[in-house]
Amino acid sequence: MKCKGSITRKSLLYKTGVEYGDYTVNHVQGCSHGCLYPCYAMMMAKRFGTVKTYEEWINPKILDNAIELLEKELPKLKDKIKSVQLCFTTDPFMYQYEDIKELSIKILKLINSYNIPCTALTKGVLPKELVNLSKNNSYGITLISLNEAFREAMEPGSAPYKERIASLKYLHDNGLKTWVSIEPFPTPNFVDQNLEDILNAVAFTDKIIFGRLHYNKKVSEYKNYKQYYNDMVNKVIEFSNKNNIEYHIKNKTITCISS
Ligand code: SF4
Repeated sequence: MKCKGSITRKSLLYKTGVEYGDYTVNHVQGCSHGCLYPCYAMMMAKRFGTVKTYEEWINPKILDNAIELLEKELPKLKDKIKSVQLCFTTDPFMYQYEDIKELSIKILKLINSYNIPCTALTKGVLPKELVNLSKNNSYGITLISLNEAFREAMEPGSAPYKERIASLKYLHDNGLKTWVSIEPFPTPNFVDQNLEDILNAVAFTDKIIFGRLHYNKKVSEYKNYKQYYNDMVNKVIEFSNKNNIEYHIKNKTITCISS
């Protein structure tokens, strides 16, 4: 599958304000995964008028001049950049979009040619070709459930969970650093599930990032949701320590509860 439209921009590489990020590249506008938590990137795109509707958001437009921009920006910024993440406002391996995958790999190669490591996060499938790129890169998947009915309802255009996990495992088995983003983790009134099952499915990974779901009223409808998230954080920490996995708990996931 290919994007039906394209855009051009004046700049591409920028420093992100996100807590675990340095620089980022977002070379696609919109995202076919169409997450309904809702998607913060879509909310921002609507606010700034880049897209008007959900339908427009889920029909991604690829950035035609991405390589041209990076060839200009990388020589100027290379000494300031510690790492580049693909992506914060779209998905670099959008499920079944060949043109996005090809451009993302070209971008990773170009950034790596400046000795800058990259990291990529997806709800699609991590391509096998990534084993041929720099071993200093790291690759992640988002995994907030193993329930396919929930995925189809909340992340309708994303890759099935099994495919996502298998692609991550393949990269891990081939010596690459891998990580999992368990964010935005839903409360049990969205889906009845055990966090332990998700953790066990990715026990091979090097790092786990855990964060709660924001911007959704249904979370606060769940009784004691603050305590629930505190309990889930404890589970992540305990599991990570036991399995020698690095972890990061996102800001505002833990709440200090006083009686
Ligand atoms: S994968 Fe990310 S960018 Fe794409 S719709 Fe889902 S939350 Fe938004």
